[in-house]
Amino acid sequence: MKKAFLILFITSFISACTPKEQEYRDSLFVLGTVVNVTLWGVEEQKAAQAIKDIETDLKFLHTVWHPWRFGAMSRTNELLALNEWFSANPSVLPVISKSKQLYTLSNGLFNPAIGQLIALWNFHSDEILDGPPPERSTIDTFTKDLPTMDHVEVNGFRLRATHPKIKLDVGAIAKGMAVERVITYLKQIGINNAIVNAGGDLKAIGQHGDRAWSVGIRHPRQDSVIAGLEVHDNESVFTSGDYERNFEYAEKRYHHILDPRTGYPADKTQSVTVIHPDAGLADAAATALFIAGPEQWQEIARKMKIELVMLIDQQGHVHMTKAMAKRLTFEIEPEEKIIVN
Ligand code: ADP
Ligand code: MG
Repeated sequence: MKKAFLILFITSFISACTPKEQEYRDSLFVLGTVVNVTLWGVEEQKAAQAIKDIETDLKFLHTVWHPWRFGAMSRTNELLALNEWFSANPSVLPVISKSKQLYTLSNGLFNPAIGQLIALWNFHSDEILDGPPPERSTIDTFTKDLPTMDHVEVNGFRLRATHPKIKLDVGAIAKGMAVERVITYLKQIGINNAIVNAGGDLKAIGQHGDRAWSVGIRHPRQDSVIAGLEVHDNESVFTSGDYERNFEYAEKRYHHILDPRTGYPADKTQSVTVIHPDAGLADAAATALFIAGPEQWQEIARKMKIELVMLIDQQGHVHMTKAMAKRLTFEIEPEEKIIVN
């Protein structure tokens, strides 16, 4: 519901001050969210065909990368559980290889090997979530012998898990890689002015006519935009927030971004926004920096070579790099802004 509101908001933000004739826009219900594709200066028939093809592609990717519904990734998970070498379906290899790199760069905070922990919390399911949270002892047993991406060995097309509890859940990077793929496809067919927005996470190429694409970043505690920005050619803007998926039990809220070190939802952050050319990296980094929190995000951002970051902590204070501060126009002024180099 909230997401739908934001998408509408962002969409109207984009279109508020421009002529419509050259704009072609469509909404797709894929990847478990609303994907808005906006093209500029593309002939209508070509635009409609491109968006149809994108829909087919994204539906396919959703099946292929889904951790537990029948498809290439769920099959991969079955085979990984055998702890022996096997030939992997090529469609899962790019996301696995990239996940291994980003796991290392994020000091293990982005760890898609924790599918079993995500399932334990019931965050893997499409259903409305309900408490109680899992038993502490079950979580502790899992984190004491934590499966990681280092336990997934890759040798060409061959894969092997060296940990009995590996289950891949690429939910924290899949949307980014899917958006990246759509942008690559658009460029291949000669479309160079577009924005692909998957539930508030997006990548843009070119411009919206004679001005840059502009978008809003959602306020983590209000149904409105906290800050607006102009998105440059080839930039992606990804946000991870504690408001996306959560449940309440005994007056405590539990959300879907889990700290692999504790096994519990990371509790020092409300949201993190990352801007980077690579949408897959931006997606994974937003998750990792969310977990890193107000004390550790700079260290991880440096290691991941990300210069544009905004983190909103549990108090609602906004931490950001100088480069990010220059890019944002705040619509709702935060109580405190902490700007670092
Ligand atoms: P969203 O998809 O809501 O924008 P994220 O990109 O942060 O949010 O991805 C969150 C999803 O990633 C969770 O629903 C879960 O499937 C998975 N996940 C949770 N914690 C981690 C983690 N530490 N590392 C990798 N994936 C995670
Ligand atoms: Mg993410």
